[in-house]
Amino acid sequence: MPKDLRTFIASLSEEHPNEIVRVARPVDPAWEIAAVVRRFQAENQFPTLFFEDVKGSSMPVMTNLFASRLKLAAALDVSVEETLNEYMRREDRPIEPRWVEDGPVKECKWIGEEADLSRLPIVTHGEKDAGPYINPGVGIAKDPDTGVHNAGIYRHMYRNPREMGIDIGPESHLAHILRKREEKGEDLEFAVALGHHPAFCHGSQVRGLLELDEFAVIGGLLGEPLELVKGETVDLGVPARAEIVIEGRIRAGVREEEGPLGEFTWHYGPARENPVVEITAITHRRDAIFLDLNNLYLDHNYLGLLGRESNLYKRVKEAIPSMRNVVVAESGGCRLTGFVQIRKEFEGQGKNAALAALAADPYMKMVVVVDEDVDIYSEREVMWAMTTRTQPDRDFFFVPGSFVCIIDPSGHTGRSRNEHGGMNTRVGIDASRPVDIPFPERCDVKRDLWEGIDLAEYVTSPVGAGHRP
Ligand code: MN
Repeated sequence: MPKDLRTFIASLSEEHPNEIVRVARPVDPAWEIAAVVRRFQAENQFPTLFFEDVKGSSMPVMTNLFASRLKLAAALDVSVEETLNEYMRREDRPIEPRWVEDGPVKECKWIGEEADLSRLPIVTHGEKDAGPYINPGVGIAKDPDTGVHNAGIYRHMYRNPREMGIDIGPESHLAHILRKREEKGEDLEFAVALGHHPAFCHGSQVRGLLELDEFAVIGGLLGEPLELVKGETVDLGVPARAEIVIEGRIRAGVREEEGPLGEFTWHYGPARENPVVEITAITHRRDAIFLDLNNLYLDHNYLGLLGRESNLYKRVKEAIPSMRNVVVAESGGCRLTGFVQIRKEFEGQGKNAALAALAADPYMKMVVVVDEDVDIYSEREVMWAMTTRTQPDRDFFFVPGSFVCIIDPSGHTGRSRNEHGGMNTRVGIDASRPVDIPFPERCDVKRDLWEGIDLAEYVTSPVGAGHRP
């Protein structure tokens, strides 16, 4: 059977039953769903949550579909250790989509006046968000010059039953396509697909040329062609096995206030004048699941993680062949902070690796370069290396005045450091040990002594859960 959200959930529940939690009690889509996810996060748990009974709608809500490395691995059917390599392999082998006549997403059709967004359990997340947001909907449009589909994730704000506000970064392919239509005074046909196999969302995040068809990248990640079916009211291909597809048009020249919305930096992004989508149809499965994602949480950050790590890996590896691995770290929202692990061969190579990483990704604000003995999946270990293996005046370097992103709350404009903007100082930190002078050895008990220990053979009472620092 072709892959979709349901095949993924079925295999996840079989292989990792603890990764899915069902909630039968009625919940409010305004803040209560977000609060439950937050409570789990406070316990350091990130299960996929399935809310069966959501007030005001007949549809259940699923969230936290992406929120751990284990779930990223499950999306590619590999172990956590193999995930990045497998992702990079599949990313380079796109598979063209397959057109089909019909699909589960056409089981129910709400056309015209019936296409009422308020029938969906759209979730409100942050305390001061402008309203409910549809997230992670994959927005689909077609380049009028080439006819190539473009897919990407944007934030969609509920405005009223027939309209959504949409935030499109000026640099995105969708913004480029919209400008082409607006120059002719024409609306842009648009569709939002919500709820599919996680590889569908991962593939929509690929970086590449405008001509690159994200549907083919998604096929590569799925390992099979993505099935497409024609829209009801738009001349677009939409995924036949999605849970829900919202169709509409982005109105030429119209801009209305959208936002504020809590962002991945755990600060509010300000309200902006943004385009408006007029809804023309909603199609969905008979028992559709409404997929939700909170911009603040790891669910959001991990969604784009593999694409960012793949890009960082490939570009730093070009500069530093002895590079071992990269991580785009959680504490920087899986965007702003990177760790690079190298086998250092000569003096200065650590800084070269940091320079390559800072140049590889416009969001990369801070890079830490470490040796092979540092576990880069542990922020605690990286912080240890930063503290014990650097002298900041010599090993930290700063690149003031480059553009990182408008969402960083500490960013400034070119005019003034006291005015908020996307300008930022990047920092490279070379926490690798010198190779041309002696450096004290790392201390620990021998690995083969502690690693093989079965604690049950040593402890006579349960290991105290309260004793972790
Ligand atoms: Mn694109």
